[in-house]
Amino acid sequence: MNDNGRRQFIAKFGILSLSALSATTLLQACANGEAPAETKSSPSPKPAPAAAEEVAENIDCSTYNENLSPTDLKTRESLGYIEQSETADQNCSNCRFYNPAKFKGDCGACQLFANGAVASGAWCKTWAVKEG
Ligand code: SF4
Repeated sequence: MNDNGRRQFIAKFGILSLSALSATTLLQACANGEAPAETKSSPSPKPAPAAAEEVAENIDCSTYNENLSPTDLKTRESLGYIEQSETADQNCSNCRFYNPAKFKGDCGACQLFANGAVASGAWCKTWAVKEG
């Protein structure tokens, strides 16, 4: 190997070594759950949540639920029914199982509950988006 060949070999080997070192550093940083110093940046802003539909709060449907049986209450409990949804954009009024025509005001029927009314702003674990 002449001087030119040796210089080319050293130059190529040096570049490869630096590349391998950078890749190793990057992988180690990722394995530790942190970004390498040269790639750290301020966190990107989270996208704004979709605008929630206006849903009435504190709806009282208790007059329709005065005669619920223990079985009815157990069904509601097992489905995690709550009078006021705590999940953005999910409530009875936009659930496929909600029937607003059965009761007056913001109370409606749920197809999964044999008896009683649910509030339009309520929620349970079986919520499913209403299509159409
Ligand atoms: S399934 Fe749950 S969220 Fe849907 S209408 Fe019935 S109670 Fe409301």
